[in-house]
Amino acid sequence: MQWETVIGLEVHVQLATRSKIFSGASTAFGAEPNTQACAVDLGLPGVLPVLNEAAVAMAVKFGLAIHAEIPEVSVFDRKNYFYPDLPKGYQTSQMYQPIVGAGEVEITLEDGTTKPIRVHHAHLEEDAGKSLHEDFHGMTGVDLNRAGTPLLEIVSEPDMRSAKEAAAYLKAIHSIVTYLGISDGNMAEGSMRCDVNVSVRPKGQEAFGTRAEIKNVNSFRFVERAIAFEVERQIELLEDGGKVVQETRLFDPERDETRSMRTKEEANDYRYFPCPDLLPVVLDKAYIDHLRDNLPELPAEKRARFENELGLSAYDASVLSATREMADYFEEVKDVCLDAKQAANWVQGELAGALNRENLSIANSPVSARQLGELVARVIDDTINGKAAKQVFQALWNGQGASADDIIEAQGLKQVTDTGAIEAMIDQVIADSPAQVAQYRDAEPDKRGKMIGYFVGQVMKASRGTANPQQVNELLRQKLDALC
Ligand code: ADP
Ligand code: MG
Repeated sequence: MQWETVIGLEVHVQLATRSKIFSGASTAFGAEPNTQACAVDLGLPGVLPVLNEAAVAMAVKFGLAIHAEIPEVSVFDRKNYFYPDLPKGYQTSQMYQPIVGAGEVEITLEDGTTKPIRVHHAHLEEDAGKSLHEDFHGMTGVDLNRAGTPLLEIVSEPDMRSAKEAAAYLKAIHSIVTYLGISDGNMAEGSMRCDVNVSVRPKGQEAFGTRAEIKNVNSFRFVERAIAFEVERQIELLEDGGKVVQETRLFDPERDETRSMRTKEEANDYRYFPCPDLLPVVLDKAYIDHLRDNLPELPAEKRARFENELGLSAYDASVLSATREMADYFEEVKDVCLDAKQAANWVQGELAGALNRENLSIANSPVSARQLGELVARVIDDTINGKAAKQVFQALWNGQGASADDIIEAQGLKQVTDTGAIEAMIDQVIADSPAQVAQYRDAEPDKRGKMIGYFVGQVMKASRGTANPQQVNELLRQKLDALC
């Protein structure tokens, strides 16, 4: 039997407001426990929440970016449950009238194809605190700094059909929210996490299978691994004649498996009702239009411009527009060297390779975009050859000079294009290599092409890599053929 995977994601994005969604307490990451939780966050008697307008603006910007409907009225509800990290006894969320209606996110797969994924809605809510089970012997600590931090929960339709599509969707959301500047997107610090709903159905069947929901997955890689495990588990279960039960599971990255947390029967009854402390949010058209008019260029638009106006391939355009930092870096390199294709090659080749090796993000690149742009310009104007360019790049990376020109000068890497100088080196190499010359002479003419590599290598070495390789090739061929 052939199976088809069906996936829907609920992505929680922490919004980059300075204060909390209903209080003035700071949202900064990493403070001492409980130093950033005020009376409102603790739900002390007599306090009232005040909605943070910045959170509203950020949610609406997201809605506009995914071409969603923005309803005129949205309403906050109380989701009631008891938990030590939720001192109010309820989470303020939006159940029935969310701030962002139906929209659409386009994902790009590895082969460059695109697919639209529908978003059911996105709603605002507050985060809970954190229970600390490890720090105290025989006790659990509670840190309420995170309580009241604004979250935007983005709920997709079950439109994804593979782990790769789910990861691509998460990446698309990540790039939209970081382009908009509404979240730092820092997954390691929990700024983006998602609940992954997975089911399988026989290929061709229209009705969805029963789904399991994997809670709180916090990296692109874990999303893929959790889905891979879950799909296999469900198929095995069904093929053995069993049934998938609707339940909440958790992903354990260490054991690379998902485990049951609670089944539907044990699920909470949240007794949702409109929060009497908060007025409905009413947005007028002028407010929404103002936000729309001030949206930055978004990933999809940038990708299209890179492709259509700069002539990059679909793949390059998609890689280089994936994050705002990457796009800005690339554009600066291009503006300095004035060649988009060369800029794209260097950013994705030499630079990306070096960043990967040292596990650095582009924001922390030791080589600035201007430095790289100037280096690429020296390749384009033939001041240095490709080999020397790599040396210059390494030197810039190691901080051995402030600019490509300084390094070229200091290390004598300027390309030798003077025919006389190159000929002198060639004559020397030929004189020093009688055995190879004899071999060359005795070889069939169609085999000689390959043998020339040895001589090219020797001449390049003699020039310390600075000779123009094309000229070396041409002149060598003439001189060697003249000996035959
Ligand atoms: P609930 O109200 O129980 O939370 P929703 O209808 O809101 O359920 O769906 C929650 C998430 O689960 C959505 O992202 C949706 O796309 C996804 N989903 C719903 N049904 C399925 C299914 N059969 N398989 C996979 N994902 C699903
Ligand atoms: Mg739901």
